Amino acid sequence: TQQFVWPLAQFGQIINMYQRAHASSARIFGLMDEPARLAEQPDAPDLTVSEGRVEYDDVTFGYGDGETIVEDISFEVGGGETLALVGPTGAGKSTILKLLMRMYDTDEGSVSIDGQNVRDVTLSSLRESIAYVSQETFLFYGTVRDNITYGTFDADDEDVIAAAKAAEAHDFISNLPDGYDTKVGERGVKLSGGQRQRVSIARAILKDPDILVLDEATSDVDTETEMLIQRSLDSLTADRTTFSIAHRLSTIKDADQIVVLEDGRIVEFGTHDDLLGDNGLYAHLWGVQAGETDQLPDEFVERAAR
Ligand code: ADP
Repeated sequence: TQQFVWPLAQFGQIINMYQRAHASSARIFGLMDEPARLAEQPDAPDLTVSEGRVEYDDVTFGYGDGETIVEDISFEVGGGETLALVGPTGAGKSTILKLLMRMYDTDEGSVSIDGQNVRDVTLSSLRESIAYVSQETFLFYGTVRDNITYGTFDADDEDVIAAAKAAEAHDFISNLPDGYDTKVGERGVKLSGGQRQRVSIARAILKDPDILVLDEATSDVDTETEMLIQRSLDSLTADRTTFSIAHRLSTIKDADQIVVLEDGRIVEFGTHDDLLGDNGLYAHLWGVQAGETDQLPDEFVERAAR
């Protein structure tokens, strides 16, 4: 009987591995809420990225509870360009990027990469083309090395160390009890937000994706670490289509395009200089962050609080 039992046991293991891989890929994208399982067309081709041009065409979406979260979103990002999303918490910035990674499907309109609707290509090829960097990045229980190589299958030690160096992470990793073999994640050594972010930058550098999604850190790293992180990000974003959710406007003022969102709609759009000239929400947020004024006009405070 053993002959028959063990292949079945193995089959169970494969299913289990598949489920875990599915769950962790959702986490790698920073989405702790498990998205609905999305269908792939039976003969879906892989995504092929040539320039990395991304187009949102009249996108409307809600999470299925009847509420519309983002509405009539249209913009185009040229290959290699950086587009920053700005707006109050809850405005829909992350939601817009979840639609690019096809964590959810749009209700109306389409998101396409080099002319291919993200709905029409295989999910695996789509997610291989995109890397997500955030301080909230989920580190799974495993070694630092495992966490850096996640999503890259052919990396040797030299590649891993080079990526960690480029991410300004090599020094702190070397100082961990077992260096690159130190176990991190839920049951392992606790890393700070800034350290987790650098591990996720190293992972992205190693992955060398066509498209980068950057959820900029909000918090608590010291100025020196922040400069290190900024430097490693600059090399990562150069010549790569980048979406950046910015909390501090100073880091995105050089973006090729800035989309200002409020209540799920695009309210302003342009370069930093265009938007300052418009003297709207962006210009006021900029004034506050630059210390020119310490107060948003009431009109904006009320709008942001809605
Ligand atoms: P931002 O990134 O600008 O802070 P989000 O895209 O995270 O905004 O959120 C936009 C709105 O969508 C918020 O009202 C938020 O509560 C809601 N939302 C986000 N994720 C979910 C979800 N998984 N299910 C239901 N509502 C959600």
